[in-house]
Amino acid sequence: MRWEGREQSTNVEDRRGAAMAAGGIVVGGGLGSLVFLLIIMFLGANPQQLMEQVGQQQQQEAGSRASLTPENDNDAPLVEFVSVVMKDTEDVWGTLFREQLGARYQEPKLVVFKGQVRSACGEATAAVGPFYCPGDSNVYLDFDFFRELKQRFKAPGDFAMAYVIAHEVGHHVQNQLGLSSKIQAMQNRAGDVERNQLSVRLELQADYLAGVWAKHAQESKQILESGDIGDAMNAASQIGDDKITQGRVRKENFTHGTSQQRVKWYAAGLASGDLNGMMKPFEVAFDAL
Ligand SMILES: [Zn+2]
Repeated sequence: MRWEGREQSTNVEDRRGAAMAAGGIVVGGGLGSLVFLLIIMFLGANPQQLMEQVGQQQQQEAGSRASLTPENDNDAPLVEFVSVVMKDTEDVWGTLFREQLGARYQEPKLVVFKGQVRSACGEATAAVGPFYCPGDSNVYLDFDFFRELKQRFKAPGDFAMAYVIAHEVGHHVQNQLGLSSKIQAMQNRAGDVERNQLSVRLELQADYLAGVWAKHAQESKQILESGDIGDAMNAASQIGDDKITQGRVRKENFTHGTSQQRVKWYAAGLASGDLNGMMKPFEVAFDAL
């Protein structure tokens, strides 16, 4: 992908240097501590011990992270890369919303974190992978996932990383269009199988939207280099539920779609670039996805 030296988004928040303490748990009086104590009680842990642990952890994090500077930050190029990709998503979705939906695109924020992060969807660790939180309209990303993508999932290439960001931004588009809440309401009423199927459809739609983005970003900015699309397709394939769970999970319990499905819907969005086709993952029979 051609990204060096291009314009960057201002919606990237680098929280890698911030300890959890900054927005952290209030261990004073008030409602916060009451809720906190209730959680501890619910978990059955010893509050005193837990509070000490939290305190120690916060001190350790503050100590080890304060030393991150532009000079010693090995991931500085990744910060620039994700900022350029975010800018490309803002430009494409801003135009598509204005021209095809007659609406204003509300730009999401990309929060880069290390280890663990606090979001409106709760506290999360890097183990969950990149995610989008509808509650605060932020995409959360730990750069370790990019290393995992390359090494464990054998999906190298900068456009593989761009695909991951575009997929999460696809979830933001779903959220802004009111789809996420609509599907969630349906899921609340559904049984296990149907709930998972709706989740798969939502994920495949995010892949479709990532493809739509790639098509328009290429048309307006010529961002692609040879091999880029192959890298993104490979990433979509490598993080399919069938590959990630390696047969340990039954197909009915998939929540993201198989490798084949993910590649298919990413390719469909990429080929058409058509926003009007975005409901197709919800319209075809589940077996035909
Ligand atoms: Zn997703």
